Amino acid sequence: KVFFKKKKWCKRSWHSRLASGSHPVPDHDLPPRIRDHQQLQLRHRVARILSRLLSAAMAAASFLLSPRVTLPLRRGSRLLVSCSATSSSSSSDAAGGVGFQGRVGFQGRVGFLGLGIMGAPMASNLMKAGCDITVWNRTKSKCDPLLSLGAKFESSPARVASSCDVTFAMLADPESAFEVACGANGAAEGMAAGKGYVDVSTVDDATSKLIGKRITSTGASFLEAPVSGSKKPAEDGLLIFLTAGDESLYKRVAPLLDVMGKSRFYLGDVGNGAAMKLVVNMVMGSMMVSFAEGLLLSEKVGLDPNTVVEVISQGAINAPMFSLKGPSMVKAAYPTAFPLKHQQKDLRLALALAESVSQPIPTAAAANELYKVAKSLGLADQDFSAVIEALKAEMQSSQH
Ligand code: NAP
Repeated sequence: KVFFKKKKWCKRSWHSRLASGSHPVPDHDLPPRIRDHQQLQLRHRVARILSRLLSAAMAAASFLLSPRVTLPLRRGSRLLVSCSATSSSSSSDAAGGVGFQGRVGFQGRVGFLGLGIMGAPMASNLMKAGCDITVWNRTKSKCDPLLSLGAKFESSPARVASSCDVTFAMLADPESAFEVACGANGAAEGMAAGKGYVDVSTVDDATSKLIGKRITSTGASFLEAPVSGSKKPAEDGLLIFLTAGDESLYKRVAPLLDVMGKSRFYLGDVGNGAAMKLVVNMVMGSMMVSFAEGLLLSEKVGLDPNTVVEVISQGAINAPMFSLKGPSMVKAAYPTAFPLKHQQKDLRLALALAESVSQPIPTAAAANELYKVAKSLGLADQDFSAVIEALKAEMQSSQH
């Protein structure tokens, strides 16, 4: 007040001059307190902008550096669906565990049964994350790469289960999954209260329930957790787990699932994970047949099938599968990521699932027939994209 009086400054007139901008007040003309206040405001504004830029940059960096994506999900009427795409540290909070060797939020030893195309990279990722892994595979030589990384070996599924806290199984089909879990020297013989069995194989819901029943009869917990994603996502730790069964086991192994996958769904009762996986693979099997038909038709009418792949990749029906498999299908090369015999098995199981609820699935049924033809042509161990060869064979036989 003294200052304003002294200098005959009127606060209001000064503010109005400043606000209107009609009479810009030179800095040196301003009273020091006002000048300081202005500078302070300017500094605050710059600080606010810098802080916003910094947090945007940090958010962008964390998004780019993390392979995990948070997916918005809706609660279904029948299935309680949850998806977590958290880092292993937050998952470890959920599991209430202190990290094994400080890297994975899971305490204890982990067993892995079945080291095929999928099992080997999954177990390898757990090892790389610092887990204490014990492995078994029917063909022992397939354990060698993991043993050279430091994994332990046991001579039967029962011995793996008895020496580990949680045991994963990644087996070919319902028969092998049941045999390894419930057969002679099977995992169930090594199970006991406090232990967990996580079956990540693709099987039907009835087999999964049988395995679950046998495992839980020992006092152990059971979780089915088939995966969506193929060889490359398994190698990159980007699988999608479709889990169902014991929820506390689900929470306990969540940090391990997060090492092997990018997201996980908890779907409630045993059988729901198996059913979800069969629905997904039923759609995939039919899509592949339709794609193969398109490639062959385009060739027959004089189009370049490579251009068809390119056009599809830019439109609404684009799926990574088409861009991934298309170029090699055009060259009649089928490097195995998902064996054709497994795709046919999944269609067979999906047909049985549909039959159990009297649901017609004519497209999947037709696709299944083609995979059967492909198997009969000796393509069972090729990639499922080799189903195009069955179409070529049908085309040839229809010409004769
Ligand atoms: P894979 O390479 O054929 O491996 C199958 C595994 O099962 C091998 O370890 C094999 O042992 C074992 N096995 C088969 N029959 C057995 C038996 N009677 N007793 C004991 N072990 C037996 O298959 P994969 O591609 O890894 O697939 C495994 C499972 O994951 C399948 O259910 C498949 O449908 C599912 N899946 C696969 C993919 C994919 O893209 N590959 C994607 C998602 C889900 P040996 O080494 O001794 O033969």
